[in-house]
Amino acid sequence: MSDTTLYVFIGLVVAILLIGGIAAFVVGSRGKALPPADTVDRRLDDLREHPEHEPTPTGDGLEPVLPEPGEIDESDADNAEPGAVATAEPEAVAPEIEAPAPTAGRLVRLRARLSRSQSSLGKGLLALLGRDRLDEDTWEEIEDTLLTADVGVTPTQELVERLRTRIRVEGVADPEVARSILREELVTLVDPSYDRSIAAKGADGAPGVVLVVGVNGTGKTTTVGRLARVLVADGDTVVLGAADTFRAAAADQLQTWGERVGVPTVRGPEGGDPASVAFDTVKTGKEGGYDTVVVDTAGRLHTKAGLMDELGKVKRVIEKQAPVTEVLLVIDATTGQNGLTQARVFAEVVDVTGIVLTKLDGTAKGGIVIAVQRELGVPVKLVGLGEGADDLAPFDPEGFVDALLS
Ligand code: GDP
Repeated sequence: MSDTTLYVFIGLVVAILLIGGIAAFVVGSRGKALPPADTVDRRLDDLREHPEHEPTPTGDGLEPVLPEPGEIDESDADNAEPGAVATAEPEAVAPEIEAPAPTAGRLVRLRARLSRSQSSLGKGLLALLGRDRLDEDTWEEIEDTLLTADVGVTPTQELVERLRTRIRVEGVADPEVARSILREELVTLVDPSYDRSIAAKGADGAPGVVLVVGVNGTGKTTTVGRLARVLVADGDTVVLGAADTFRAAAADQLQTWGERVGVPTVRGPEGGDPASVAFDTVKTGKEGGYDTVVVDTAGRLHTKAGLMDELGKVKRVIEKQAPVTEVLLVIDATTGQNGLTQARVFAEVVDVTGIVLTKLDGTAKGGIVIAVQRELGVPVKLVGLGEGADDLAPFDPEGFVDALLS
């Protein structure tokens, strides 16, 4: 072989090696991206056997796709571990706790309601006393005005007698004098000497126990709810007892009143023993260190003996735990004589210590305040002057009379 032939042969060999090397590099780098043939076959087999499944990506940077919260089956959510489906649950909304209006000055705030409906009493009396001549007919008219407003016979006679005497002595030339005499005498009649505070505090670590009694429909449950607000506004802690177990709606209503101001309500089964609910309520109040327990009672006006049994038992059972500090009788001011009859029956059954006169905004017969106090010898402590949550006002004789005469 000549030298030239040798060089040509070596050049060919080098060229072949170079081309082969480049081809091997190109093929090798592509081949790296492909899975081994047997892996591809396994995945294809998997898809053939389980066509509903996507092959699970593994180690290739993709995360499993989670279902959207709305896609979670709620039956699964029920069985899930706590927290597992937390996002599927709507966030619980904490009930908003209301701040009741302060009790001081409520009667003044609600005075307009009283004077609007009572104008026939106050304005009527002022007009009559303002006459030039106070003859017998005028005094008779004054008497009729008082009787029509449900002041009651004896208090009316007393008032007329005192007015006649004073006006004879002091004279009524000036209408302002007549007004101030009338004001003084009415305040005397409503009797400012009574203690009208609610005995809502207990002693010796026991809560105060307020028992609320009265006929259904008088506004008893509303009063319990509003009383809770009065006590909460005054800074006390309160627990309510729904011992009117005959009306599920009354218990629901009471619970709603309580929830609005963050006050718990103790309930029993519908138709259950009222005394047992009263017992549990006072127990809760005592063990929980509450200031006051307010118990709503059933107000079916059936036989007096039945009422006596029921309320008597409630009171006895409560007093195994703590003394009853206040018994409030609720009377609907619009029911006139009927209200007085109810008052008499209840007073014979329990020791009433205070009266709540509701619906005083809806009657021109505000004289019932005087009549019912006389009837029972017990003061009116609270008055209802509307359907609003804070339309229950501590009663005060001067504020009441001023409202009448305003
Ligand atoms: P209960 O059956 O004695 O428990 O009576 P409720 O508490 O259910 O009240 C009966 C109705 O009287 C409800 O519609 C109350 O809103 C209404 N009511 C209660 N107190 C007053 C009040 O002072 N003024 C007015 N206008 N309505 C009242």
